[in-house]
Amino acid sequence: MPELPEVETIVNDLRIKILDLRIKNLEVLLPRIVKNSLASFKKKIIGNKFVDIERIGKLIVITLERGGYLLAHLKMTGQLIYFSHPTSPPVPLLRKERGTKSSKQIIIAGGHNDGAKPEEMPNKWTRVIFTFSDRSKLYFNDLRTFGYLRIVNSKELEIVKSKFGVEPLGIELTLNLFKEKIKFRKTSIKALLLNQQIIAGLGNIYTDEILFAAKVRPTRAANSLTAKEIKSIYKAIRPILKKAIRARGTTFNNFVDGNGNIGNFVSQLKVYGRNGKKCKKCASIIKKLKVAGRGTHYCPDCQK
Ligand SMILES: [Zn+2]
Repeated sequence: MPELPEVETIVNDLRIKILDLRIKNLEVLLPRIVKNSLASFKKKIIGNKFVDIERIGKLIVITLERGGYLLAHLKMTGQLIYFSHPTSPPVPLLRKERGTKSSKQIIIAGGHNDGAKPEEMPNKWTRVIFTFSDRSKLYFNDLRTFGYLRIVNSKELEIVKSKFGVEPLGIELTLNLFKEKIKFRKTSIKALLLNQQIIAGLGNIYTDEILFAAKVRPTRAANSLTAKEIKSIYKAIRPILKKAIRARGTTFNNFVDGNGNIGNFVSQLKVYGRNGKKCKKCASIIKKLKVAGRGTHYCPDCQK
């Protein structure tokens, strides 16, 4: 599942490609991905333009020129794939030379790669296709179909926004606010960090990494944490997310980002996905257990 750094990367890449292009055509191959009535969705999209794109937590919010917002959530396995020139066959991603005129700009974004070849778009997981006036295309693919597209008005957007917790990269997440939100809770700190209504955008990978950096076990009840531990967790959140964004996110398998690069934060992971391997700090064996229903990784010696 793409988390904040991956969604941030997608949004930044798409911003350069898809804004201010007239949407010429829309194909909805799986209607239930669209959470509006299909007729009204099509009417609102065709002929419109995307004029802005931003992220709230893991949700993508695209401003429409003629009013309203298109929300896109990738959930578990969603992908957004952009082709600048669909009429020519794109070159294989990893051999693509950046900036050359003949190369086809391709954006792949979202969730884990399911082995699909980007040059074979649309594929059987393509659910929605936007075609722009310059013949470029944006594919919304989703293997497991938990993702969605939904158009909302500004009032509805405010309601959606109000359900999100504090943005971890913004200035509003102060140490005091963080403390207030967690200190009396009996829930495990891992579950609280995953709770999108508390902090928006953290998922399984980064919560494990944040708790390792803070030397706190994911299973600890939040109300058992000392002030020092809370501060350590708080202090780990921003640097880890920023580092991951700089690395263009963590990707597994063949996931490729907007410039045909594989997100390389995976090499910087300290605990996530490293169960059975040696801790990079103390050489103890990294353990894995289930916390809040999610596979959770920690070092039994570094994390108390
Ligand atoms: Zn360790």
